[in-house]
Amino acid sequence: MKKQKDLEEILGRIDGKGYAAYRDIKGEYECNGYILCIDHAQVDPFAPPSKVRIKVGQSVHQIPLELRDSRAKKIAVSDFLTRAFRESIRKLYDGVGGSGKSGLLVIDDCGMQMIERTSVIVGDKEIEVRFEVGLPAAGRKVLGRSAAQIFCKVLPQIVEASVLYKNLNQRALKEQVELILDQEAIRAELKKRDLVAFVANGAILPRESGISQKPLRKGAVPFKSPQHLEVTLNLPYKGELKGMGIPRGITLIVGGGYHGKSTLLNAIELGIYNHITGDGREYVITNEDAVKVRAEDGRSVEKVNISAFINNLPNGKDTLQFSTQNASGSTSQAANMMEALEVGTSCLLIDEDTSATNFMIRDSRMQRLVKKEKEPITPFIDKAKKLYEEKGISTILVVGGSGEYFDVADLVIMMDEYVPKDVTQEAKEIANSFTLKREVLEEEPFGEITLRTLTKGSLPTLGREMRIKVRNKECISYGKSDIHLDYVEQLIDANQTNCIGTMLEYIVSEILSKVGNKEITVGQIVDTLYEKIEKEGLGGISPYTRHPGNLVLPRKYELCAALNRFRELKVK
Ligand code: ADP
Ligand code: MG
Repeated sequence: MKKQKDLEEILGRIDGKGYAAYRDIKGEYECNGYILCIDHAQVDPFAPPSKVRIKVGQSVHQIPLELRDSRAKKIAVSDFLTRAFRESIRKLYDGVGGSGKSGLLVIDDCGMQMIERTSVIVGDKEIEVRFEVGLPAAGRKVLGRSAAQIFCKVLPQIVEASVLYKNLNQRALKEQVELILDQEAIRAELKKRDLVAFVANGAILPRESGISQKPLRKGAVPFKSPQHLEVTLNLPYKGELKGMGIPRGITLIVGGGYHGKSTLLNAIELGIYNHITGDGREYVITNEDAVKVRAEDGRSVEKVNISAFINNLPNGKDTLQFSTQNASGSTSQAANMMEALEVGTSCLLIDEDTSATNFMIRDSRMQRLVKKEKEPITPFIDKAKKLYEEKGISTILVVGGSGEYFDVADLVIMMDEYVPKDVTQEAKEIANSFTLKREVLEEEPFGEITLRTLTKGSLPTLGREMRIKVRNKECISYGKSDIHLDYVEQLIDANQTNCIGTMLEYIVSEILSKVGNKEITVGQIVDTLYEKIEKEGLGGISPYTRHPGNLVLPRKYELCAALNRFRELKVK
């Protein structure tokens, strides 16, 4: 194998030549303690930066095996090293100047959550760090000496500081691994105790601002469980931890405006992820399959069975296979819900702030004025109980505006100046004392959850004119059509969207193209895909198409959200 000094030599030789000469540096080099792989050299200084990896063997990095011998631990270590590498770049590197993206040196940016990502792959034998380098140029001429500065001077220092165990903050690393194990333990405990979410006492739920995910520092009221709902967990590392357990069933979060209802629900929504130390929501843990369901008028819908909620539309439109390029508030929320049920959610999260009123409720007066036959919508209030009783699907619901839900709730939590209280008893008494009651359609079952099937032609075949391109966190273009993900609230990282792009490519080219004349359900497609990832890691679905260091794992719900929002999707 070539050595680091060979790279130095090549860079000296091509210094001052045309930019294309950089292709000569592609390849692998043995450096001091690691192997440097330059996989791709950009074609000009303005093109996307070049893809580079380093591989460090375990005899060199010496990160103990007991910190990395399970999937969860690997996620914690990968996250830790990605942050450490990024921090080292910031500390040890000032840039080299030049045209275009000259001198750029970047690794993926982690947010407040630890999610499986490919910026650092923690293997059994070696650790691989993947990042990008803007090969330096003056105009369009190679700046070989600057490139040598990056690869041969700065990079060895960064690797030394951020991959070798002896130089890492070992205590922080150990704590991060222990944290993720505790978080996973809580999630496992939820199932055993028939809970859907846990919010620890002392958790800081509010964020610094509407555009920041950092915790609110000044004036944040720490979470404190109502006594009646308090559960005590015994975690493997943290030991005893008390907090509010939300049982399965129908839970309302009520309270005055600005008293912290949505903030609590948001924390629960993101409790599907594991947060890092200092976030404030480290011990807010939700069932991993809980899905936020909101209204999203304008979205497209392809053959979703929304008849559980909507029937007899004015123009005789089919709701067993409801399709539209422009859904209304209520039909979009019904579709969002049915699509989440289709792929197996066990808990729905709903906020009145982002719901269609007519989907959520019709009160007794309106029931009397507009007869059942004239109203296509059966509101969620008439279905929530059935959904739980028949299918075991729980709901956590924020409602400040309608007490009608008291009738169907198993638990009512009131937020009072950011402090939760259990007001179930009171709410039930109020509900019972009212005489003008809503008509409730007791005998009607929830309705059908239809599993849609796709075939070969359901997604357009990829080619020159038909590419999948990830624009940003909220937008993927597929051919000429844009998939908008602005309202997919549990999608939190731009590289999850990047990963969804790669997954869609995989679905088209590796799954649907091979089903022949058969049909395959949406659920089967995502299961096939996630099984492959489980076996081979995230890299398994993306050998070449995109920089493999920029993938962050989304859940199947967010992947399906993208699929379902593709305006040219054709369901069988
Ligand atoms: P609601 O949904 O009840 O109207 P929000 O959850 O939107 O209220 O919260 C209103 C405001 O209060 C937000 O600015 C939020 O950041 C802040 N807030 C929420 N919870 C807390 C808390 N525990 N401590 C301090 N401020 C909070
Ligand atoms: Mg609110």
